[in-house]
Amino acid sequence: MSAKPKVAFFDFACCEGCQLQIANLEEDVVGLTNLVDVVEFREVLTGKAPEYDISFVEGSITRKDDEERLKDIRSRSKLLVAYGQCAVTGGINRLKNQWHSLDAVKKEVYGDNYNMPHLDTYPTQGIDAVVTVDLYIPGCPIDRDEFLRIVKELLLGKKPGLANYPVCVECKFKEDVCLFDFGIVCLGPLARAGCGAKCPSNAAACEACRGTVDNPNTHAMHEILEKYNYTVDQIKRKINIFGVNPEVSK
Ligand code: SF4
Ligand code: SF4
Ligand code: SF4
Repeated sequence: MSAKPKVAFFDFACCEGCQLQIANLEEDVVGLTNLVDVVEFREVLTGKAPEYDISFVEGSITRKDDEERLKDIRSRSKLLVAYGQCAVTGGINRLKNQWHSLDAVKKEVYGDNYNMPHLDTYPTQGIDAVVTVDLYIPGCPIDRDEFLRIVKELLLGKKPGLANYPVCVECKFKEDVCLFDFGIVCLGPLARAGCGAKCPSNAAACEACRGTVDNPNTHAMHEILEKYNYTVDQIKRKINIFGVNPEVSK
């Protein structure tokens, strides 16, 4: 029997919520470890390995040191996957890049010592600003079922795809009542599905944590906003929460 693929998990600037999703796979962990050999996973194991068949990278890049470490991981990985919105676009960490200067943000976090060398940081970016990424798994956090499907497809030699239709489709399929009818602004018309419309199904607005579909129908979004008496400006901040920036202003 051939050796199982060596899989590793790495993190950069993030809340580690995506790796927690994997650490909490419960009974599915057995199935996963039957298929792959997890050789590095700081939150779960102490082991290290010199090279990897698949590296899953979580978190955004915010420092020069991050770049060197990420390039080293890339050089030792046959396949590199960005998982979680922090790694995909910079995610919620990109709020740091918006609305305030970098110095103001650093001062808010670190106080008067914000300029000390070890606190150095630059505007947040997704990992593909530094290395080539073979595959993206969006979400904040990632969806466990989607993660397992993607791993299985990779092991079968397939190129996994993502849903390329909006969250509204999943929401309607579940026969949820539209939140706009309750005066709640929802980004479902633009957001990439695949999460099962988790938020609207629990009476919370979709905030596009998985990014948008490839060609978001901004015209439809405009029509909905007009129908419910909202303006694009009123939803702009919401759209930027997860580092997503469809051109809704056009
Ligand atoms: S994508 Fe969200 S859940 Fe995942 S590490 Fe980033 S902030 Fe945490
Ligand atoms: S806008 Fe939101 S609540 Fe309304 S159908 Fe779309 S996903 Fe559901
Ligand atoms: S409904 Fe929207 S915000 Fe909620 S998990 Fe799905 S994509 Fe993310």
